[in-house]
Amino acid sequence: MSLFPNKHMQIVVRDDDDSRRYAERIQTALGRYGWRTDPCPELVIAIGGDGTMLEAFHRFYLRHPGAAFVGLHTGTLGFYADWKKHEVDWMIETILKSEPKIVEYPLVSTVFENADGSRHRHLALNETIVKSSTLSTFVVDVWINGEPFETFRGDGLIISTPSGSTAYSHSVGGSIVHPSIDALQVSELAAINNVEFRTLNRSFILPRHHILDIYPMHKDGEMLVGVDGNVFIMRGVRRIQSFVAEEKVRFARYRQFPFWQRVRAKFLGD
Ligand code: NAP
Repeated sequence: MSLFPNKHMQIVVRDDDDSRRYAERIQTALGRYGWRTDPCPELVIAIGGDGTMLEAFHRFYLRHPGAAFVGLHTGTLGFYADWKKHEVDWMIETILKSEPKIVEYPLVSTVFENADGSRHRHLALNETIVKSSTLSTFVVDVWINGEPFETFRGDGLIISTPSGSTAYSHSVGGSIVHPSIDALQVSELAAINNVEFRTLNRSFILPRHHILDIYPMHKDGEMLVGVDGNVFIMRGVRRIQSFVAEEKVRFARYRQFPFWQRVRAKFLGD
């Protein structure tokens, strides 16, 4: 039994001519063999960069959590894209002729709880970032598993998934975490550390079932929130609770491209 019996797909394309050309080529080739664009996709193809995969995830994951994702990178190298643009014909042929292995990556669930009792939940494929909405210091109490851990003063915190560990989290000195590990990583943005104020001053990693609670110390609970590059302002936040989500995202892996090979290619060079 095929993983994609209905051959229902969606293609998400970065807004540039090159990516659009590859999208047309893939759509035409797969279309000849019965693949159709459908509102309930079994396979979502992201053409562009890792940013395009993040967009594809947010457009389709919540409504179709069973969909599998695959990426063609039209730039240099992607962490979410298994294929490079010069491999497009090989990619098409492989999709048409073979069954992929499904690989699942952990997600981070973050619930923003407001003083009025309302709750908003966000799922992140890369990370959720919380920061002050102004240039003033972001002051929060951080609790782990119901116990006080530290008071953070600085620019903000990044709560990253394993696959997001090569993105923003990496730029602020976080560790690289293999996506087979069910965990989240908390990294500090410009923490104030001196004789008066002290934070851990290191990223830390929580396993599945551990709970991170962040309590804003300013009265209005206003903050800037970023989820995988989507940015918004939240007001009246009383508590931010993050944990490794029950759900996982599924990638259609048609070929071997080990994570550590990607890390070496991206950060150390081929
Ligand atoms: P964007 O321009 O879409 O992405 C910024 C860069 O991050 C791009 O080069 C993108 O690669 C790369 N990237 C995205 N996810 C990655 C991953 N999992 N591993 C390695 N590189 C990754 O920026 P955006 O729309 O504002 O935000 C999207 C993501 O960018 C965020 O989730 C955040 O992780 C990252 N970001 C990083 C920094 C930083 O490092 N200082 C600052 C802001 C945002 P492609 O070119 O392949 O798309």
